[in-house]
Amino acid sequence: MSNIHNFGAGPAKLPSEVFDELEEELVNFNGTGISLMETSHRSATYIKLNAEIQDVVRRLLNVPQNYKILFLQGGGQGQFAGVPLNLMSRTGTADYVITGIWSVIAAREARKYGNVRFATPQQDSYVNIPDLSTWDLDPNASYVHICDNETIDGVEYDFIPNTNGVPLVADMCSNIMSKKFDITKFGAVYGCAQKNIGTAGVTMVIVREDLLNQAMPACPSVFDWTLTAKNNSILNTPPMQAIEVMGRVLKWIERNGKLEKMEELAVKKSSMIYDYIDQSNGFYYAPVEKRFRSKMNIPFRVGPPKGDVDLENQFIEDAEKQGLIQLRGHSLVGGIRVSVYNSVTVEDVEVLLRFMKEFFKQHAK
Ligand SMILES: *Cc1c(COP(=O)(O)O)cnc(C)c1O
Repeated sequence: MSNIHNFGAGPAKLPSEVFDELEEELVNFNGTGISLMETSHRSATYIKLNAEIQDVVRRLLNVPQNYKILFLQGGGQGQFAGVPLNLMSRTGTADYVITGIWSVIAAREARKYGNVRFATPQQDSYVNIPDLSTWDLDPNASYVHICDNETIDGVEYDFIPNTNGVPLVADMCSNIMSKKFDITKFGAVYGCAQKNIGTAGVTMVIVREDLLNQAMPACPSVFDWTLTAKNNSILNTPPMQAIEVMGRVLKWIERNGKLEKMEELAVKKSSMIYDYIDQSNGFYYAPVEKRFRSKMNIPFRVGPPKGDVDLENQFIEDAEKQGLIQLRGHSLVGGIRVSVYNSVTVEDVEVLLRFMKEFFKQHAK
């Protein structure tokens, strides 16, 4: 285990302490003598765990009482449908800010449920967040959707856009719990667990109460935020084990300096890599504009001028031999992608940097 350094974009590395705890409770959850997997979701045991985890989320993100915290299934993409099904009926139209591949996919899904306007143009490659003054926002939109961190393109917001009273909805699948932010600036945020806060199966939605009670009649009950809130996220059988893992990760974050520390480390880890890339005379190339470079996902190319596929394959192969794994960029953009989620350590990054320097020495002309 210890000589593996996992930089996967998701499902991604989890803290080793969390595995120790899970191992202990796997067959005997909290002294019950049985696994949580064998426990009724209507039991006092699960009801308590469900409440406890919501409390941790509330403390970490400072979530006020007029926001509901929901645990749903269907992943991030489930919420690409969940968002319009729950929010678009008010005016039948929504604005999508296009900053990368995930926001495009979100917009395409939402089109099934109403009128979707692109507030920013679709591009061939995404290297920044277009200036807010250029966004074409419709005051009549039911909501404005953004992707706070584009996992594939490596573009991340460094500000919360003002949408003039239109509810702002954010996909935070790959950066939720990586930084502090003011949740009251959002109508709703959502994030699947398997990037930064656990394992696949559960998706968290945090929604302001006044946005409930407007789901489309056709909205499946299991995607209905209002019904889910009324049933305290135990509408049907929840993905209890994924929620258990997420709870363990959130408590680990709380014990390890909370979001201030996670953010400080994210800045440190990502800067170590970007700074080295920028010093490599173009041998390594990170396309995203400095200000909007993601602190979670770092896509880059190897070999001048802007990436040599053979050299990149060599890079991945050599890295794997040294235990540096899951570095291949998303197939839609190619290249390399290093993900430095909360559980990736500074030491992991140091090992990667040593490898990158060695690879440079061997291959740079
Ligand atoms: C991974 C990801 C998704 C999709 O998540 P699934 O759980 O696989 O559906 C959506 N948006 C972003 C930003 C992601 O990183």
